[in-house]
Amino acid sequence: MAITTMPTDTQATSILDAAALLRAVAQGIKARRLSSTEWETTSSSGQGRYTVLLDADGGARCTCKAGQYARFACKHATLVQVLARVLDDNREQTDDLPF
Ligand SMILES: [Zn+2]
Repeated sequence: MAITTMPTDTQATSILDAAALLRAVAQGIKARRLSSTEWETTSSSGQGRYTVLLDADGGARCTCKAGQYARFACKHATLVQVLARVLDDNREQTDDLPF
């Protein structure tokens, strides 16, 4: 059996951060899909909107400050990554989103 190791150059944004997801949920951040690669989320204050772009590898980039400068995905990008995966698993039900 071959032993595999984690690639050192894995894109950080493709790794899901459970703490970031919990922050997004706790702060009531909502996300909606604009296209297969583009989502819009609310800000934690509810005042602003951010755009999250998904790439083919499952990574995500967000237009918020943390998303632009942090090495790891922000809470908005993480929420979108999770929702996109859920939609992917239920592709036939993507027409009527509850948000
Ligand atoms: Zn963000």
